[in-house]
Amino acid sequence: FLSRLHSTQASAQKEDSGFKGHDMLAPFTAGWQTTDVNPLIIERSEGSYVYDIDGRKYLDSLAGLWCTSLGGNESRLVAAAMKQLNTLPFYHSFWNRTTRPSLDLAKDLLEMFTARKMGKVFFVNSGSEANDTQVKLVWYYNNALGRPDKKKFIARSKSYHGSTLISASLTGLPALHQKFDIPAPFVLHTDCPHYWRFHLPGETEEEFSTRLAKNLEDLIIKEGPETIAAFIAEPVMGAGGVIPPPATYFEKIQAVVKKYDILFIADEVICAFGRLGTMFGCDKYNIKPDLVSLAKALSSGYMPIGAVIVSPEISDVIHSQSNKLGSFSHGFTYSGHPVACAVAIETLKIYKERNIVEKVNSISSRFQDGLKAFSDSPIVGEIRGTGLILGTEFVDNKSPNDPFPPEWGVGAYFGAECQKNGMLVRVSGDTIMMSPPFIISPQEVDELISIYGKALKATEERVKELKAQ
Ligand code: PMP
Repeated sequence: FLSRLHSTQASAQKEDSGFKGHDMLAPFTAGWQTTDVNPLIIERSEGSYVYDIDGRKYLDSLAGLWCTSLGGNESRLVAAAMKQLNTLPFYHSFWNRTTRPSLDLAKDLLEMFTARKMGKVFFVNSGSEANDTQVKLVWYYNNALGRPDKKKFIARSKSYHGSTLISASLTGLPALHQKFDIPAPFVLHTDCPHYWRFHLPGETEEEFSTRLAKNLEDLIIKEGPETIAAFIAEPVMGAGGVIPPPATYFEKIQAVVKKYDILFIADEVICAFGRLGTMFGCDKYNIKPDLVSLAKALSSGYMPIGAVIVSPEISDVIHSQSNKLGSFSHGFTYSGHPVACAVAIETLKIYKERNIVEKVNSISSRFQDGLKAFSDSPIVGEIRGTGLILGTEFVDNKSPNDPFPPEWGVGAYFGAECQKNGMLVRVSGDTIMMSPPFIISPQEVDELISIYGKALKATEERVKELKAQ
């Protein structure tokens, strides 16, 4: 099985770049890959494209890791970083000392987030740190309110919330749990809201949502509502396979969460800043969160930075209880790093000036309709997405219950064909994910669709061959 996947991957890369068996323990990479397959080494970027060390050009259909929203060479972000590096390359935000860029960015974020009025912002360096911080904030809040038993978190199966111990516990993907002794016992997982895969025969999207909300309520009652602190959800699930919510889902889930005094955390790490065709995912699905996690497009991926926005109720408790509980003893050396904040401020300025939401909306139907036109392919189960995010799931007989044998490596084959034809996609088993930069042009969308189509044809042929064997 591995050797087949192996050859599929290897075939997409040049024979010998001289970096086989390199010295990195690589994230989300199997050990054998680093010893046996040449890594793809990306050297530079330009707009929607990246170039490898051999000068090969690839359309970057995943915007790095769902983050380089403004593409690969936005000179204003470089200038903002340089200016800050030349003025104050570092100062921290501990003990009520801080810097102007972090104060300004907090203000900008509170102004931008309009799904409901929010209170304060806490800076981190990544999405994982944002979600770890969420857990500590919620626990601190409940301790301050004298509710020491209200500590459990409910996340969803197939969610992705990060890879640190706590954020990986929230994540609902077995690969992140197996062999790491997680999820932590305070984390529970409820249903994945994937209608195509999980609906019952004859069940409408609305009925499916009703059933999932009922299951959530049953779980809360079984565990004891006084023990459940928070529910966390991505507006559109990302790394779990790009899964937009079914109709009425968030309306019904929010009603349940509210009924039992459970906080709602919106993990907007992928969805924020225009990806879904609204400034935030919460705007699209009418979510009124108590806490929000941000990262990725906050700086267009140019600097590592994330943020947690908390409601006024939570920031007020942290403020009013500080005499009793002391300082909020949590934070990182680089919380509110001035260079990262300066780049984020400039990123948000560009989003506003270029009306990025409108830009995404002007291109998203070309992207969505162009790709969804391949839905009839005999190896495609579902092509789903919204805005500039899309997932494709390969199955046999067009049925969610008929996966291809994993050893066929159908998804990996498709990914390798895309790469051969000059495009990078994300492959996870037999699911393919794409989230191109917001600045992608109509011509580049057409190129993306054309490469996708070629890779799909080749993969259909491959499946035919494998079936005949
Ligand atoms: N939340 C979501 C929704 C994500 O997609 C990711 C990363 N893909 C994270 C959290 C974790 O972010 P990071 O990799 O920056 O820690």
